[in-house]
Amino acid sequence: MNAPKAPKRIGASVSFVFVAVFASPLAHAQAISPQALVRAYPDHLAGADEASVQWRDGTKQPLSDGRADKSFDEKLRRASLLDQLSLPYKTGPLAQPPGPNDDPGRFRNAAFFDKMYGDCDKGETQKRLVDVPWVGGKAVRVTTVNGVADKLRAIRQELEQLPPPVKRLTFPSAGAFNCRVVKDTGARSMHAYGAAIDISIAQADYWLWRKGAYRNRIPYEIVEIFERHGFIWGGKWGHFDTMHFEYRPEFFAAKDKAN
Ligand SMILES: [Zn+2]
Repeated sequence: MNAPKAPKRIGASVSFVFVAVFASPLAHAQAISPQALVRAYPDHLAGADEASVQWRDGTKQPLSDGRADKSFDEKLRRASLLDQLSLPYKTGPLAQPPGPNDDPGRFRNAAFFDKMYGDCDKGETQKRLVDVPWVGGKAVRVTTVNGVADKLRAIRQELEQLPPPVKRLTFPSAGAFNCRVVKDTGARSMHAYGAAIDISIAQADYWLWRKGAYRNRIPYEIVEIFERHGFIWGGKWGHFDTMHFEYRPEFFAAKDKAN
């Protein structure tokens, strides 16, 4: 399942081979358009073209870092925006466990999210955090940027309506804002931006605990609510983390003229 990743800025013939590889029903992959970023983050982005995104403050950020030869691990540690857009996230129930490196959303461009949510090591992120009551009543600290706090309030309302045995899996939250890096990559987690939440740890499964053997005990009823509000689920990653949800609306804004 270690399919070659998209080389950037290379000849058309090689690109064609890549498309053919990913045209298999299993992969079902098409890189997400940079326009999806603009649709997903309208408060911050004014536009995008083939080479860059334009921020509303007038700055331009290149999509590529000029590196066509990065390994999977390098993309996890130092993702370009193109890397960030390279693995589409599939909505809907999981038909089968994700492939080993099927990690849509785990490539995160740090400059992009630092600029949007702030750098927590400099205390910037913390200025935009609020406490939101979570299922069960205990508050979680999350960002107001991109309306994340309001979306989590709406998600909570819906989770509260679930049948008690399902609702029980959503609280107490195992954490939201946390100025930390991802255990295995050293890259900043979406928790460091206040844009991620871990639901109850009681029925959670994590790839590092399980030596990679996929298991999930979180029903799709819960996942569906988060997805509808722009959150992706860590249970859809080969490196699974089934209590984890993070706000990544670009994966739900992918429909455009290229599709
Ligand atoms: Zn998490």
